[in-house]
Amino acid sequence: MALLGKIVLITGANRGIGLEIARHLGLAGMTVIIGSRHKQRGQTARDHLQAQGVDAHAVELDVTKQPTIDAAARNIDGKFGRLDVLVNNAGVLLDRVPPLQVDLSLLRTTYETNVFGAFAVIKTMLPLLKRSRAARIVNISSGWGSLANAPNLKCPALAYGSSKAALNSITVLLARELKEANIKINLADPGSVATAMNNYQGARTVQQGAIAAVRLAILPDDGPTGGFFDDNGAVPW
Ligand code: NAP
Repeated sequence: MALLGKIVLITGANRGIGLEIARHLGLAGMTVIIGSRHKQRGQTARDHLQAQGVDAHAVELDVTKQPTIDAAARNIDGKFGRLDVLVNNAGVLLDRVPPLQVDLSLLRTTYETNVFGAFAVIKTMLPLLKRSRAARIVNISSGWGSLANAPNLKCPALAYGSSKAALNSITVLLARELKEANIKINLADPGSVATAMNNYQGARTVQQGAIAAVRLAILPDDGPTGGFFDDNGAVPW
């Protein structure tokens, strides 16, 4: 995939893995749009990337608030007229208790961002993605969303893990329909990465955590769709 001038939107890109995905794709020649629910945080991230020579832009986008997703789509349409890559990176990890202690409101809040938010962004950005010759969608999942791995998790997070499993399912179910529009959609598992989400307790750096997503964002035409990958290859479902 030729990268120069390609337009990529990354949600929740004002920090952590999303910011690193933006930095990497921007340094490779893509025009990056930082989606951020707080305007000022997005602008700070944009300035940070611009200082490194990246063609970076910021757009206010809270994945749980449809009007902000609509406004972001209009903004991108007006400035660029299309989207080549969408990275659904925004996510929350809210449960720090054993599965039976998770209450319904926490489950709902988690799904609002990790599942419904990602789906809403895909649906809203689809017309812009269809204007690309060969668009790519990358959904940031987690090893905790793997049903195969779930029985062996030391500290299972019911809301978070099941939300990522739902995102996995949505991705597979969308892949075939999106093929008709020449759009590839895949899942990236960053591994355990030191970010604010885990009080910087993850073993990997954001640079390592961004690898799988970056690869999927720039997949060649003969690349896979509907798959789940970390930087070593396929992740068991
Ligand atoms: P992070 O530093 O906490 O970043 C999460 C980002 O998502 C922040 O920019 C946050 O914005 C944004 N966000 C949260 N809710 C949002 C909303 N409603 N609308 C828009 N943006 C929202 O965590 P991270 O580790 O980089 O996480 C990035 C992705 O990787 C997530 O999907 C996460 O589940 C996944 N992941 C992380 C790990 C890990 O070990 N860190 C492992 C597997 C998967 P604010 O700054 O405004 O809060």
